[in-house]
Amino acid sequence: MFEELDNPAFKILASQCIHCGMCLQACPTYLVFNTEMDGPRGRILLMRAAAEGRVTPGESNDILAEHLGRCLACRACESACPSGVRYGTLIETVRVAMETHRSPGALERFVRWLAFRQMMPHVGRLKLVACLMWLYEAIGLQRLFRALKALPATLGAMEAILPPITPRYRDYRKPAPAIGERRGDVAFFIGCIQEAFLSQANEATVRVLQRNGYTVHFPAGQTCCGAAQLHMDEQELARELARKNIDAFLAGDYAAIINNAGGCGATLKHEYADLLKDDPVYAERAKQFCARVQDISEFLIDHLHVPPQGEVRARATYSDSCHLRHVQKVIRPPRELLQRIPGLQFVELGQPDRCCGSAGVYNIVQSNTANAVLDIKMADIAATGADLIVTSNTGCHMQLIVGARRAGLKAQVKHVVEVLEMSYRAMGEQ
Ligand code: SF4
Ligand code: SF4
Repeated sequence: MFEELDNPAFKILASQCIHCGMCLQACPTYLVFNTEMDGPRGRILLMRAAAEGRVTPGESNDILAEHLGRCLACRACESACPSGVRYGTLIETVRVAMETHRSPGALERFVRWLAFRQMMPHVGRLKLVACLMWLYEAIGLQRLFRALKALPATLGAMEAILPPITPRYRDYRKPAPAIGERRGDVAFFIGCIQEAFLSQANEATVRVLQRNGYTVHFPAGQTCCGAAQLHMDEQELARELARKNIDAFLAGDYAAIINNAGGCGATLKHEYADLLKDDPVYAERAKQFCARVQDISEFLIDHLHVPPQGEVRARATYSDSCHLRHVQKVIRPPRELLQRIPGLQFVELGQPDRCCGSAGVYNIVQSNTANAVLDIKMADIAATGADLIVTSNTGCHMQLIVGARRAGLKAQVKHVVEVLEMSYRAMGEQ
């Protein structure tokens, strides 16, 4: 029996599904497997069965692990559902319950300890790894390993998502001053993987904010957002990280706390308050923190004081980050920002809300399914004829680089702010 699910609140949530099937065509894994249990409706039935004791931990846990494990938690079904079923809450609750009844082996425990505690909260260590990976790419080892397919499955999947690395890092000890007329002060959430492996997106974010009159602060003591830890049932660690971030960012008076990764932003903005609701010291502070968090495109759409006037001659399409679209509901701003750039021809995807298959560590632990989901996305992208694929989340960014390579596309992948910065640079500004 999953005691964790045997409560009225969960059962009520799960019973809100009226089995209409409106969500099925929105579900990437349903489209890949074409089976009911790999779509939201079937998964909700499985969850109800678990809550009612018809599927129990142990042997029959396998059926849950198989079908719920394949869920990307992209929440496209939630946006498509006319009954307002909160699928995201359901799947998170069930996954935590399943983790409670699972005993990971020594190797898995070690990898989790290494990734969640020793690496992600320490961006300096991640940068060191990124520099080593840059060397690995620069001296041609990457080409050799890829040609020989010499790495074992999981390591090979990790290697496959390694983006081209430019290990150029800003010194975050000093604020970045506003350029031109000063409009205010904002704080920037640096993140972990994004800063180490895609630092050009962070740099462009800072530059675009400066160009629009904002002094950008980088509060000391900030750390990884805790999203990965939270979704892998490491709640206590996620709380520790959340408290550190809240202390760091509430120490100053900023117009907004800006982040540029859809996945991190969803946790910072929508999960900290719930995570710390029973903490007598942090419950209120968490709410204050969440209220100030904004995605960079959400902030810029209202604060783009200096219009980008340099031409960017490109045909661009935009692939939504699931967490930015379905959780943060930031859909219009990135598109509008791109449409303001002279010379840039914006082409909407046929299915812009479809997940790319990145989904946290999904593309490492379930690489075959992730690639099948990615190939559907890339066919949609290829049909637009775009030479610029724009996104706004670290995992999507890396996954779309893999996708372009798999599909043989020459298109470049960039964050929205990188494209804005290209336009500002073309204006001949500093
Ligand atoms: S979260 Fe995504 S993958 Fe999971 S059931 Fe919903 S649409 Fe399908
Ligand atoms: S759209 Fe909503 S109500 Fe309909 S089957 Fe999907 S989850 Fe259930």
